[in-house]
Amino acid sequence: MVAFHSTRGGGPAGLEAVLQTGTAPDGGLYVPERLAAFEREELADSATPAELAERMLAPYFAGSSLAGALPDICRNAFDYPLPLADLSPAGNGACLRLLELFHGPTAAFKDYGARFLAACLERILAEEPASSPVLTILVATSGDTGAAVASAFSGREKIRVVVLFPKGRISPRQEHHLGCWDDNVQALAVHGVFDDCQRLAKQAFADARLRKRVRLGSANSINLGRLLPQSAYHAWAALKSPEGTHFVVPTGNLGNGVACLWAREMGAGIGRILLTTNANRTIGDYLSSGEYRGRESIGTLANAMDVGDPSNMERLRHQFDGDVDRIRAAVSAASVDDGRIRRRIRREYSDSDAVLCPHTAAGVDACRGLLADAGASAGDWVIAATAHPAKFETVVEPLIGTTVAPPPQLEELLSRHSSHEEIPPDLAALTPFLG
Ligand SMILES: *Cc1c(COP(=O)(O)O)cnc(C)c1O
Repeated sequence: MVAFHSTRGGGPAGLEAVLQTGTAPDGGLYVPERLAAFEREELADSATPAELAERMLAPYFAGSSLAGALPDICRNAFDYPLPLADLSPAGNGACLRLLELFHGPTAAFKDYGARFLAACLERILAEEPASSPVLTILVATSGDTGAAVASAFSGREKIRVVVLFPKGRISPRQEHHLGCWDDNVQALAVHGVFDDCQRLAKQAFADARLRKRVRLGSANSINLGRLLPQSAYHAWAALKSPEGTHFVVPTGNLGNGVACLWAREMGAGIGRILLTTNANRTIGDYLSSGEYRGRESIGTLANAMDVGDPSNMERLRHQFDGDVDRIRAAVSAASVDDGRIRRRIRREYSDSDAVLCPHTAAGVDACRGLLADAGASAGDWVIAATAHPAKFETVVEPLIGTTVAPPPQLEELLSRHSSHEEIPPDLAALTPFLG
């Protein structure tokens, strides 16, 4: 049985409590007190990603009220295809493959974590007396996160979701995807920018009187319930290669980056890990200078990675006791600007008909750049493909000169009725929607 503690020393805390909160009471992030270690053989014969997730996560669930439900929870979160697709090999003979994480209901990798967390919370609430209050999940989004969370919690018992998004600042398709769910999901267009949405959510969480009346929960990417299942898909890809594989992880808040690192620590057979950012260079600058400097984010084509101060950096540093030399030995980082993202999308399409979303393109470009260097390790490289290119059609289509058909699950969402309300950016306007 594994307990959890905060990166800032607080704890221990049990799994149920950890899944229901974002940050720990001392302001840190929850981490397992130790990572479970497996022999590769113990994991390698898992028949499905769901079964692998169940094996890898069992130590963290042992002794909790969710232990018996873990197989069902994993099946719920991993119930769609997780294919590996070949890219053209690199000049040095290295084999490149995409791990397609975008076959879920909202066509981005965040579906995995959101669905896993939703399945956990629904079961925790079901154990409570019938009179216990409904949980209201409040989430601010600039796009992908909100849709994945809305989809994952839609129709679940005893849970409501309120999604805040900046009015007129997300694409019409994204807006549609936030408002097309069951009655327990309310989308709110806030008059303001994304920062106003985030400030509003923070104000609500900090308001003691409100929190006495309304049971508020969060589902943002620092929640451990989103991170843990993400380790399983990295491991799944590594176990498909007899010798294991190196990984390229396009990253913003470092959620996928930490999940990949944990999969390696747990024994999945992952070699090098190359974290790829867009022009927001905080991680790379930290690794080269040894001094961490969070900053304002800048807008790029890979906008789901527009993060200047990655929240999971605290988990990465904690894992290596803040020793930057040990972090450098564990991961490397590359930054890919918009010009390179554009060129990479064009190039992969003209070379091999591969259509990449801007985030995935950053990863592929970093990988090919690394392998072009003399002495780079050949072998197997897997690049996490974080979203379906049709979600970023306004970027991708002009570059490749053709349309990208949305996958069936997105088509289906677009055919549904979608609605939202509008509010000014103040707490008094938000409160009535929180229940
Ligand atoms: C959220 C997101 C990312 C970044 O993921 P992190 O876990 O924050 O590193 C990358 N690509 C897409 C498409 C995303 O939605």
